[in-house]
Amino acid sequence: MTEEINWRTQELSLDEVLQKYPDVPRIWALKVDVQRRGVVYTQAAKDMINPAIHQVNTGTIALFRTTQDYTPESLIMRDGSYLITNFDLNKNKAFREPYVVDAIDGHIYIMDQGKVLEEVWYWEKPEFYDKTASNGEPFNKYIQARPQRIDINLNQYCHFWDKPGEGCKYCPMTPCFKMRHQTEEREETKYIAEAVREALKQEGRFSAILVTGGSILSGEHLFDDELDAYIDLLQAILGDFQVERVPSQLISSAFDERQLERLYRETKLMTYTTDIEVLNKEKFEWICPGKAHHVGYEEWKRRLFAAVDVFGRGNVTSGVVLGTELASPNGFASEDEAYRHVIEEAEDIISHGIPLAANVWRTAPGAIFQNQKNPSLEYFIKTYREFDRLAHHYGVNPYTDDYRRCGAHPGMDLLRI
Ligand code: SF4
Repeated sequence: MTEEINWRTQELSLDEVLQKYPDVPRIWALKVDVQRRGVVYTQAAKDMINPAIHQVNTGTIALFRTTQDYTPESLIMRDGSYLITNFDLNKNKAFREPYVVDAIDGHIYIMDQGKVLEEVWYWEKPEFYDKTASNGEPFNKYIQARPQRIDINLNQYCHFWDKPGEGCKYCPMTPCFKMRHQTEEREETKYIAEAVREALKQEGRFSAILVTGGSILSGEHLFDDELDAYIDLLQAILGDFQVERVPSQLISSAFDERQLERLYRETKLMTYTTDIEVLNKEKFEWICPGKAHHVGYEEWKRRLFAAVDVFGRGNVTSGVVLGTELASPNGFASEDEAYRHVIEEAEDIISHGIPLAANVWRTAPGAIFQNQKNPSLEYFIKTYREFDRLAHHYGVNPYTDDYRRCGAHPGMDLLRI
């Protein structure tokens, strides 16, 4: 049961949005809408999971989940792009019905109101998921996988939450950490490195490594301990490669010039990301109070621009949780107003050679914004379309953060067209 039974009459449907923006691919617009509304799996769809072949949620570390259902990790579409669905849905407070994944005659489809929309496939499990580290623990306790990428979440707790009220309001990571009664913030580097070595034995599977984690504020200077932890890990997993730079991405706090220089000099990291999250100073200060208090919006941006001087144009990206700028009560009053402000800021950032990796904001259980309503499909399509125009205009195209390797920010998919 949805909170708003008439929601379909209050916003443009997928078909109506496509009529209004005929230049965007239908399969891509559906992907954006699935990210926005979420999916549920029928029993027939769950019966199509073969745990010997497919990657399932059960048994893996799920940073952004409070529950573990027996469902596929995520989906792959017929254009080869990914549909990330491994997040919790706030089913009791959903404002719109999620899409349905169902199985018909041995094929799996995304459906809405009983209508077949797209055939999809489940992600195949990498070989290391069935193996164990030298301490007997399963490797996928230490690292996880997307179809072409190894994922490492180093710190599973974010210290912006140390002070009540300073965590990012849309983020479920630390609330989920607490709800799981987890006590250890991170796994040992030794076992993570063992897992990466094992994963890379599978020929042709992985083309990049992602390292990320919650912020660590401590150290002689802000984020110094976080930097040390990442350098230690990156040296352990990338050090053996006989190349100058390994296809890899770090998503971390906004390091200053001295920290960025160290990161570049002391590791073989190829690309760097620090997330501005909200494309407006005033809304950022309300939504990400910890980041605003310890660093500030303008300084976060300045450090982002400084990173381009260190890592090079196209090797720096910034994440955005698109749509949070419309959260209530302090968000923009209308989608038109939000669009104008967001595009102005986006152009400033993209013009510095930094593509925006913008996720579709969905309301995650555990997050402070868990009971909010995210924007219309038209808002996301219109905004992504303009981000893409700006990225083409300024000639920015990320390598390790594109549709093949990440897949979590649909706007990036348009860059291949
Ligand atoms: S910095 Fe914000 S978005 Fe990132 S982990 Fe911490 S609370 Fe979540």
